[in-house]
Amino acid sequence: VSFDFLARLQQGPVLGDGGCIFELERRGYVQAGPFTPEVVLEHPEAVLQLHREFAHNGAEVIQALTFYGSRDKLGRDPAEVNRAAVRLAREAAPSLGVAGGLSPTPTFRHGDRSEVLQLMRQHLEAQLEEGVDLLIGETFLWLEEACLALQAMHIADLPRVVTMNIGPQGSRDGFSPDECARRLEAEGAHVIGVNCSYDPQTSLTTTLLMKTGCYLACQPIGYLHECGGPFESWAEFPLELESRQLSRRALGNFARQAELHGVRFIGGCCGVAPYHVRSMAEALGRKPASSAKSADLRLHMIPEVRERSAAEKLSAAAP
Ligand SMILES: [Zn+2]
Repeated sequence: VSFDFLARLQQGPVLGDGGCIFELERRGYVQAGPFTPEVVLEHPEAVLQLHREFAHNGAEVIQALTFYGSRDKLGRDPAEVNRAAVRLAREAAPSLGVAGGLSPTPTFRHGDRSEVLQLMRQHLEAQLEEGVDLLIGETFLWLEEACLALQAMHIADLPRVVTMNIGPQGSRDGFSPDECARRLEAEGAHVIGVNCSYDPQTSLTTTLLMKTGCYLACQPIGYLHECGGPFESWAEFPLELESRQLSRRALGNFARQAELHGVRFIGGCCGVAPYHVRSMAEALGRKPASSAKSADLRLHMIPEVRERSAAEKLSAAAP
């Protein structure tokens, strides 16, 4: 194995990337609504560039853009899309971890369980042929679907991450975060936690409700939660989320908090862009390549900016 994810986790926090689908939607390459990843075939250069930006800003694991890449969601044979997705991630970040993965399937809501399992195995097939370092099953609203993903992931001997798309109230099938954690641990996950839909503070609270022997993962959205509920329930979803965009400092603070509470796989989901990842990396004491361009406002041309920056530095240093 070129990238030993479990060994890295044992040493300390591992930083993931942000939300590729949302970022590529903003850039005009992905359609809001379906949010499917055909961009890997239609505009591979856009995907490659975004992966490179996440790597440049300190991500240690790059997620291949296989989200919603199952046959029922894509409406086509998924092999070509998933193969291209993994190749692009590997090309962008040859020395980093490349994660393959699984996502929710429309079939789960009306199909039988063996059909879902079959779709998930097919979703993984080309990814595994292409070669990934770990698998991430993410954004599951139902614990039962997450367990099917975990079952499908057992066809490979790779580290298994499963993150639920839940808040403190738990899954749609009625399981608390802690019950989700116990079940996913019992079914062979190495890393469990939450991703998407909730802001960093809520996501961290939910993650810490999980009492488990597994490593914890927390990959929240980059938007501020004010009125409660997952972001899909906000009036701003998905075309006015800019008004709720969290700053790079907010994401940096989140990364520090997550580390203090023992979360080992830290990252972001929708609304978390490369510049947020740089702040997260620096909050964890890292110096990614992009830190060469980190701000020094003492060099600003306007005196007030220089003075304010000096005052902020002093107050930050005060006890
Ligand atoms: Zn998301």
